[in-house]
Amino acid sequence: TLKDGDPLEEHQITVAVRKRPLNKKEMGRREIDVITIPKRNTLYVHEPRTKVDLTKFLENQNFRFDYAFDESCNNELVYKYTARPLVQTIFEGGMATCFAYGQTGSGKTHTMGGDFQGKNQDTAKGVYAMVAKDVFTYVKSPKFRNLNLQISASFFEIYGGKVFDLLNGKAKLRVLEDGKNVVQVVGLQERVCESVDDVLKLITLGSNVRTSGQTAANNQSSRSHAVFQIILRNLDKIEKQGDKAYKLHGKFSLIDLAGNERGADTSSANRQTRMEGAEINKSLLALKECIRALGRKGAHLPFRASKLTQVLRDSFIGDKSKTCMIAMISPGMNCCEHTLNTLRYADRVK
Ligand code: ADP
Ligand code: MG
Repeated sequence: TLKDGDPLEEHQITVAVRKRPLNKKEMGRREIDVITIPKRNTLYVHEPRTKVDLTKFLENQNFRFDYAFDESCNNELVYKYTARPLVQTIFEGGMATCFAYGQTGSGKTHTMGGDFQGKNQDTAKGVYAMVAKDVFTYVKSPKFRNLNLQISASFFEIYGGKVFDLLNGKAKLRVLEDGKNVVQVVGLQERVCESVDDVLKLITLGSNVRTSGQTAANNQSSRSHAVFQIILRNLDKIEKQGDKAYKLHGKFSLIDLAGNERGADTSSANRQTRMEGAEINKSLLALKECIRALGRKGAHLPFRASKLTQVLRDSFIGDKSKTCMIAMISPGMNCCEHTLNTLRYADRVK
């Protein structure tokens, strides 16, 4: 059985892989699980890289990541090693970012949002909610309670290169960049939260707005990036920036990315689908470059190449910024091609 250990020491970029279990449908089709994550005494590794083995499918396909979580791992465990170590960052005045990457159906929303659509509506078990819970603990802790910090949240979606506010009925928003390179999403709702419960309500609201009016055929959420942010502002420091009055102290951005297989829709017969595919492709490529640049001094930051990287510009600059990526993979033989793409992408982020 897998045991807990301590998360790795401070990393600016952490890359983890999470494999979901075969679901009932796949088992019904007698699909084969082709992914092996070698078991150890401890799951993550004090020797810092662990591997994902696809040898059942392809020879010589081994990938190593900071962490690899197999199908027995729950959201709490994944959270502990990925987003959790970044919570402190925003209290120390930095930017933290966590990306869920992978093909549609691989478990991105399950990991980030919890099972808000299931029977149990269990948003409390998603990474969004677990970050919120820890933020409320930190704000009361002896180390940070002297700071007069306000906690708020935003939730928006980027679809076809346009930004829509999920806390305001999908209102379409403009993105502006001022002379000082400060990027602003104009009019984005930033709702003050007094408790974890307030945050949970916003997660449920935004998640429902995101998926409303959707059918299996026009599965829009698989073609959009959802960005949930927990924002700390210092109530002792007035600094006008756009329509915000208090100085930004730190921000945690949690991103449920569009399905990476959608980036391949560029040969679709449907013009709209093709354009959306191209947009997704562009944003995922730019994202990879921006994350890589985080660890390298003087590296080129192509954040203007897509709306996603543009609105997250803050997250890619500064020594205090930290990022983690959780690459989700499906276990089935059918998914192998996409799984391989996901592993290759995640491998190159770092
Ligand atoms: P994505 O957002 O990447 O398209 P979802 O998170 O919606 O994928 O997951 C697809 C389905 O698989 C959902 O029904 C979800 O509840 C289930 N699922 C995903 N990951 C897991 C997991 N680790 N354990 C159990 N069920 C999972
Ligand atoms: Mg999803």
